[in-house]
Amino acid sequence: MKNSELETMRKSFNTVKSRSSEIKDSPQVKRLEDKVREIKKYSIQHSDELYNQVIESFNRNGIDVEFAKTKEDAVNIIFDLIEGYDNKVIAKAKSNTLGEIDLKSNLADKNWNVVETDLGDRILQLKKTDNKPVHPTGPASHLNISDITDIVNDSLNSNVNPIPREIMELVREDVLNLLKNANVGISGANAIASEEGSCVMVHNEGNISLVSLKDLHIIVAGIDKIVPTLEDAISVAKLETVYATGNYVTSYINVISAPSKTADIEKKLLKNMYGAKKVAVVLLDNGRSSASEECLWCIGCGNCVVHCPVYNAVGNEFGFNNYLGGRGVAMSKFIEDDETCFESGLYMCTLCGLCTLNCPVAIPTNEIIENMRKLSSDVGFYPRVHEKIKDNVGKNDSPY
Ligand code: SF4
Repeated sequence: MKNSELETMRKSFNTVKSRSSEIKDSPQVKRLEDKVREIKKYSIQHSDELYNQVIESFNRNGIDVEFAKTKEDAVNIIFDLIEGYDNKVIAKAKSNTLGEIDLKSNLADKNWNVVETDLGDRILQLKKTDNKPVHPTGPASHLNISDITDIVNDSLNSNVNPIPREIMELVREDVLNLLKNANVGISGANAIASEEGSCVMVHNEGNISLVSLKDLHIIVAGIDKIVPTLEDAISVAKLETVYATGNYVTSYINVISAPSKTADIEKKLLKNMYGAKKVAVVLLDNGRSSASEECLWCIGCGNCVVHCPVYNAVGNEFGFNNYLGGRGVAMSKFIEDDETCFESGLYMCTLCGLCTLNCPVAIPTNEIIENMRKLSSDVGFYPRVHEKIKDNVGKNDSPY
């Protein structure tokens, strides 16, 4: 990342810090934190039971559900689901899980046009290169108004002024225009309620509503997102909002429990009123079932990277894929092979523990990273700089 981008990112992070500090010590947020920690612990410990229950609930509700063991399986399931939709345009909402399975490039290879509907994600999509997000819910927090104006004008062939409202309106118009041809929407989920078979999604822009109104709505979520009840799922989503945005609640919470239907004429059930004709959920394992329990408590708020001194210094170079910072490195342990995960910034961490202190569910990321380091040295892995030291020991002209 460029120095100017790092500077803008730090400013954005400071804004989030000061907003969330105003509310996160309030009694209701403290109560919510305790509650969500218990929900996540219980859910991971009872994951098999909840998984079986959610499958039954989805079937009862008329939601198609598929299990994907690996990211390749998830992509293949998605290809099967979208086959026959000739327009080849997909409305996409923000999702780390879709980044994990590399959905956009996989679909681009098959000539599908994936249109990001979240403004930050769309700006990064228009940027085309060096467009990795810097925060799970504020992906373009490192770009200032002048960068964004240039990106938008270059890619949309426009002449918009560096005024946030003008940029927002231009991007909105362009996205809505592209989505006229989309029959498929795809999103993640913040949490899934096993008892009810409901997927909960939070957003401020209203874009998930756009995505969920397409003929086919595909929801891809890790198996770690399953919690017992709808109330639990909403608690998870509320706590994520507090830590990600500094607000008590987002503009929208969508709860999707079935395809669109009505019974307004003589109580006869008719499917396909305004919303999706078909809702399909893909539950992704991709290493989660063998992961350390604590890693799966994460609610995806991004507060750990906001407070991480290394991340603030180097940006999204610290982390793995689109999983950012120390927790991203910890995630890499179970979704990638050893070699890849040991290269994922494992030795960038200072083990200061600020991520854990600022994590609403107290994930001991520094301990997980320490254990990964022990494992890496046990198998004889050396980070690149240590490799150089090893090779140069005894050489007089070595800088090491
Ligand atoms: S590890 Fe904790 S602070 Fe970081 S994204 Fe997950 S829940 Fe938020």
